[in-house]
Order: sequence, then structure tokens, then C-alpha cells
Amino acid sequence: MMQITMPLGFLGTVYREIRQALVDMGEMFDLLHQPAEITDAPGAPALKVAGGEVVFDHVAFGYDPNRTILSDLSLRVAPGQRVALVGPSGAGKSTIGKLLFRFYDVTGGSLRIDGQDVRQVTQDSLRAAIGVVPQDTVLFNDTIYYNIAYGRADATRAEVEAAARAARIHDFIVSLPDGYDTTVGERGLKLSGGEKQRVGIARTLLKNPPILLLDEATSALDTQTERDIQDSLRAMGQGRTVITIAHRLSTISDADQIVVLEAGRIVEQGRHEQLLAAGGRYAAMWARQSAEEEAA
Ligand code: ADP
Ligand code: MG
Repeated sequence: MMQITMPLGFLGTVYREIRQALVDMGEMFDLLHQPAEITDAPGAPALKVAGGEVVFDHVAFGYDPNRTILSDLSLRVAPGQRVALVGPSGAGKSTIGKLLFRFYDVTGGSLRIDGQDVRQVTQDSLRAAIGVVPQDTVLFNDTIYYNIAYGRADATRAEVEAAARAARIHDFIVSLPDGYDTTVGERGLKLSGGEKQRVGIARTLLKNPPILLLDEATSALDTQTERDIQDSLRAMGQGRTVITIAHRLSTISDADQIVVLEAGRIVEQGRHEQLLAAGGRYAAMWARQSAEEEAA
């Protein structure tokens, strides 16, 4: 009995972890564009996260050697800080996220987490340390319990429910006739955008990563859903380093640091009040979004 179930159980875990890794990344990034040349350095140790400090030290990068995307980008995110990246489309915000995951290697400078260059640690340990809440959470055709629980294969029922509560989705789940056993996804119950995102938040909470990378939804959710999700995200960020790629400035006005990117360079940096007072790019973006929100 044991001889059969143990190897199968092990394979199940491995399969699940691979699937999890693919989902985490595939949701946010185009899998077809993953270069194959990124490999672990020989004998690379696992990343050891202490506080979760993230440092971009004079980073240069281009997808193509003839076209620089980021040039001499330096940014320090202190342990437990909330940093927001803002700027026009194409500025390089998502690229910064991809470099953090080491989907690509920098071409100049370095990127360090708690003092360790991301090229010198295993990719598995690096990716395990960073949680992603993507714009669009992918659900499997499986139970809602499964969809949350594979955030961590060994989670207990109580832990899954605690994560769902923290993500503000538990009450909704238990209101369904089959509760946590409800099948969701393409062939099951179709969840709304806000519900799916909260499942994604619960999944990430269960994984309990010290660093979070949030890619804010560009699509409009209704105001109450938006508020609920912001509450969940904020709660999730407690005690973690959070890097948010933000589109709506109103959701990041209390960030510890706002970084304005333009054409791969940091053009402004500071807190909301400081940037407003400076009367530059951020202040202009803020004025434009405020006017749009009032009109809507
Ligand atoms: P943002 O997230 O701020 O909108 P991105 O980081 O996605 O900006 O893109 C920055 C620049 O890099 C853009 O000019 C974009 O076209 C280019 N780019 C993004 N991904 C790739 C890729 N896989 N291959 C080549 N160029 C890319
Ligand atoms: Mg982007």
C-alpha cells in the first residue's frame, strides 16, 4: 500500500508545484516569451529572506541588445515597504517585475534581495519568495477549495479557510450550496472578476511569501468590489514588502514610496504629498485621473 501511494503522492506534489509555478508566471507574463537560457548557477544556494529588502542597483536591461529598455535604474525597497510603480504604458513597469522573478538577467548592474544577487540563488527559492496577484486569476476546473489550496500543497482546511476569510471570499463560498466543494472554472460556476481575484489573493496568502508583486487590474470593477479588493490587498501587504504596478493613483496614495517611470528611467520618486507639491509628472497624472473620476 505504502509503496504505491507514496511515490504517486510525491509525483502529485511535484506536478502541482510545477503547475502552480506556471500559473503564477503565466498569468502575469507571456509564457511564449520565456527565454530558455536562464539557469541556476552551479551549486547555487537557496535565497534566504530576512526582511525582504529589494535593491535595483544601477540596473540596465533590454530584451534585444539593440534596444535598451531600462538604463541605470536604481531603487531600494526597504523591508516591509509598500512601493508603487506608475507611469505610461511601455515605461518598463512590467519589465521590472520580470527581472525580479529573474525571467531575464540584467545586462548591467545587479538586483539583490536581502543582499543576495538573484543570479546567485536558485530560481525555485527566488520564485517561492515572491507572491503574485495578477490582473486576471486563472481558475482550474476543480473545487474552489482546490483552487485556493494549491497555493500551498500541505495546507490544512483551517488554513485554507483562514486565507479565504482574509481575502474576504469565505462568506461568499459558504453561501454556495456546495460551499468549498463547488466546482469553478470554465466547466463549473463562473466567478465574477472580483471573486476570481479574491480567490487569487487567498491562494497567495496561503503561500505566505515575504515579497509581493501586485499588478493592479486596469479593467473597471464596480466601486464596492474595488474597495473590497483593495482592503484584501492592503491586509495581505501587512508585514511584507509590496511592489505594486498601479494604474489608478487613488489606490496607492498612501504608499511609502511612489516611483514614476518614463521610458525606462525613474523621473520622479517620493510620497504622494511630496510629488503633488513638486507639481511634475505625477501631479499632472493625478490631476488628469481626478478629473476623469469626477466626470465618471
Ligand atoms: P509597462 O509595463 O510600463 O507598460 P513594459 O515593461 O511592459 O512596460 O514594456 C517596456 C518596453 O519593453 C516596451 O517598449 C515593450 O514594448 C517592451 N517589451 C516588453 N516585453 C517585451 C518582450 N518580451 N520582448 C521585447 N520587447 C518587450
Ligand atoms: Mg505592464
